[in-house]
Amino acid sequence: MSRLVVVSNRVAPIKEGKAVAGGLAVGVFDALRDSGGVWFGWNGEVTSQPKLVCETVGSITYATIGLNKRDYDQYYRGFSNATLWPIFHYRIDLARYNRDEYEGYRRVNRMLAEQLKPLLQPDDVLWIHDYHLIPFAEECRQLGIRNRIGFFLHIPFPAPEILTAIPPHNELLKTFCSYDLIGFQTEVDRQAFEDYIAREVRGLIGADNAMTAYGHDFRAKHYPIGVMPDEIRKTAESYRGRRNMIGRRESGEPCETIISVDRLDYSKGLVERFGAYEELLDRFPEHRRQVQFLQIAPTSRSDVKTYQHIRQQLETQAGHINGRYADLDWMPLHYLNKSHERKILMGLFRAARIGLVTPLRDGMNLVAKEYVAAQNPDDPGVLVLSRFAGAARELSSAVIVNPYDRVGMAEALDRALRMPLEERKDRYESMMRVIRQNDLAGWRDNFLRDLRGPASRPVLLRQTPARAV
Ligand code: UDP
Repeated sequence: MSRLVVVSNRVAPIKEGKAVAGGLAVGVFDALRDSGGVWFGWNGEVTSQPKLVCETVGSITYATIGLNKRDYDQYYRGFSNATLWPIFHYRIDLARYNRDEYEGYRRVNRMLAEQLKPLLQPDDVLWIHDYHLIPFAEECRQLGIRNRIGFFLHIPFPAPEILTAIPPHNELLKTFCSYDLIGFQTEVDRQAFEDYIAREVRGLIGADNAMTAYGHDFRAKHYPIGVMPDEIRKTAESYRGRRNMIGRRESGEPCETIISVDRLDYSKGLVERFGAYEELLDRFPEHRRQVQFLQIAPTSRSDVKTYQHIRQQLETQAGHINGRYADLDWMPLHYLNKSHERKILMGLFRAARIGLVTPLRDGMNLVAKEYVAAQNPDDPGVLVLSRFAGAARELSSAVIVNPYDRVGMAEALDRALRMPLEERKDRYESMMRVIRQNDLAGWRDNFLRDLRGPASRPVLLRQTPARAV
């Protein structure tokens, strides 16, 4: 089998047998170990003299490089996180566009492709990850790299009307079409991409996910990312630690826990969620003192301004809710701004009666799947899930909510808190069937099988006629 070369914005070297934070790192690690290869990307450091460093462990070479301050500001903080991230999450109101930042984004992609080139062998297969690296394949092609190159977008792909708010959208999408295979989280994302190709570019849409645009033949398909349900269940079962901090008031009397875990990001719907919880306590007084809400929200991108703003907003809201309802032995809302180890989270998920996952927009949301996989099959909790999370496409047996509907969310929480055991079990079993069918290994293997498989030229199904002027 040909070697695999993985390129991602951040590289997280992991050692076999050691616990790691994210599922993606594990999925990628297993694929690299099986075929041998290279994991290439930014080492997370900002330095005045970036230098490529290669470290080989077993069959995997970790090749990492730092970024200088200008590149970090323009490529990472700028175009990636202040333009692409908000727009791809449908938040044009929070996005900014700066031409120098876009040029910095293109420059860093070029620099990364140049650094990778000497490490490549002719039959290597390249798998590029996420929105930081959209033009990466185009830069490789410019350098004469002819290897098969695939891309997976972990975040949503917006509808064309939203995407076109990015001034160089056409140039950006032209570079995107240099990949041989483009993977999306859901069919909705893939369809939005197809709409852009059909309407804005008048590309050819063929059978078997094949397309032609800007003179390139490629395929675009959806591959929902999964989790490792058995590992999660084992971790959740075995964790005894601080589990007893939930499900009990300070007096020792039992109470139910609602849990949410998100990076502190405006796409996660935290402000709306705190509002819905307040509405629950207001509208359904019988739940006061009987329920507590644990929100874990580690800060992320704290040097980007919009992130500082949302943090202040949440602190005010949390203080308001606790000030209004707390009692000597009952704190209605526990708001923790630090990250927690995976094994602690899985234990907390298992102990919580409700997993509340209500992003305003999310590519997939792994927490939703992890919460379900961590449950006790004999007494499972209830997942309350936003219709705007990619996971809602698969987990249709969750209690689906609209995060913009404060009263609707409060009613859904009330319903979930009262839900009888039989219904909880039915919903859990149906969600677990999907989670097992589409686990992390399946996601990875499906993508790599298609990437390594024969290239196909599209048989025309649809081409949008030229627009009347
Ligand atoms: N996570 C973690 N510790 C924390 C918070 C989150 O290990 O304190 C993990 C969480 O279990 C999940 C991932 O980080 O696996 C977050 O993925 P998700 O798709 O939910 O959101 P993202 O942060 O990628 O937008």
